[in-house]
Amino acid sequence: MKKIKVRFAPSPTGPLHIGGARSALFNYLFAVSNNGEMVLRIEDTDLERSKREYEEEIIESLRWLGISWTEGVDVGGDNGPYRQTERLDIYREYVEKLLEKGLAYECFCSEEELEKERQEFLAKGEMVRYSGKCRYLTPEEREEKKRQGIKPVIRFKVPENKVYVVNDLVRGKVAFETNNIGDFIIVKSDGIPTYNFAVVIDDALMGITHVIRAEEHLSNTPRQLMLYEALNFKVPEFAHISLILGSDRQKMSKRHGATSLIQYREKGYLPQAMYNFLALLGWSPEGEEEILIPEAINKAFSLERVSKSPAVFDLDKLNHINQQHIKMLDLDSLKDLLKPYLDKSAYSAKVAELSPEKYELLVLALRDYLVCLSDIVEHASLVFEDIEYEEGALEILRGEGVREVLDEFINGYPETEEVGEIKQHLKSITKKLKLKPKNVFMPLRCALTGKTHGPDLPYLISIWGKDEVERRINVTKDKMLGI
Ligand code: GLU
Repeated sequence: MKKIKVRFAPSPTGPLHIGGARSALFNYLFAVSNNGEMVLRIEDTDLERSKREYEEEIIESLRWLGISWTEGVDVGGDNGPYRQTERLDIYREYVEKLLEKGLAYECFCSEEELEKERQEFLAKGEMVRYSGKCRYLTPEEREEKKRQGIKPVIRFKVPENKVYVVNDLVRGKVAFETNNIGDFIIVKSDGIPTYNFAVVIDDALMGITHVIRAEEHLSNTPRQLMLYEALNFKVPEFAHISLILGSDRQKMSKRHGATSLIQYREKGYLPQAMYNFLALLGWSPEGEEEILIPEAINKAFSLERVSKSPAVFDLDKLNHINQQHIKMLDLDSLKDLLKPYLDKSAYSAKVAELSPEKYELLVLALRDYLVCLSDIVEHASLVFEDIEYEEGALEILRGEGVREVLDEFINGYPETEEVGEIKQHLKSITKKLKLKPKNVFMPLRCALTGKTHGPDLPYLISIWGKDEVERRINVTKDKMLGI
């Protein structure tokens, strides 16, 4: 069997969004799970909107996500160039062939003429399409139009009364009647090919065996099938993956929150969590477990388990997946990943003062609270900011015997700042005052943090050290005089 080859073919008209990233990932997963290859092609024929910065950002996003390719714009290969604007000579060659065979023709219709036609179709209640008027121009008429300086577009002659069937690997058989499709433009008047034309030439010449892309391109596929036929190219397999809807069931857009991959990276979503989340936007694993590492997804992926129904983008789910992947990180990696967020924060100087051991304790104390890496800053405020008392905490501080616990805590404070010793000290207070552990921990937690819940207290105490702990207790004692 021929080696499987897929491609991701973004238009560099903006950053890589969730939808594009999902298409890229499904192609990649199909390739790796079948020992195949992947091409990265840049479809930059929209000269006005395409930008090199976007191309670079897309590549950076894909690499961050963990997707790689064997051929493409940045790595080269035998079937290049991989940027469509650098392939214009190639397209021209095939346009000539179609013109020679009479399968395409020059069209000189102006915008006004086309608009008039459009209105006529609408008035008759028919599908708006090009009437095919310029098909029948004589060579003399064509020459005359050119003499007048009109620059033609080139249209493909859509075969009449035919049905094209797409055997879609996700959607099954989908049939399209050609009579609803007008002769479409394959080359614009500035000589630049249209998407439908360039994509066919490129997929064919690059040896693409499977075209996996967003559902919105399904309606383009019959046009592409006609071109494959006209140019005598082997037709690849197609798989159109469903739309991604926002949680309000509307098409995913900026309204649904940060959508470019770079924005997610900046917020502190892990690439492996994003990989996991994107894979589940349409694909489902066989078992119940949804938290999966990339290697497991690579092994388990198959197009058979890709759903026809729209996928729903659920930010809560992404957050849950990210939190789980953060929990799975080894401590050293997590420490390294969190550092830049703290360095950029208002706490950078305070963090810099921490010993490596204390920095580790900070990470240990806060890791389970992190949905995103950037959350570290908000949670670190508990350690570095002055105490802000919650109502519940004040209530506990008003209780009986609180002062005694606080005094006892400071009086017998151990010489070291070791977590084990601090735990020991807390235990001895419960014994000495004959209190339940809760009645020691709770007043202390409230006195030190102003909150009734939070990270492991001995860790916090150890990070602060004796002076800061004493300062906090004194602040609370002053406060208690007034409550
Ligand atoms: N450049 C097209 C897009 O970004 C690619 C479509 C396709 O995969 O054929 O939508």
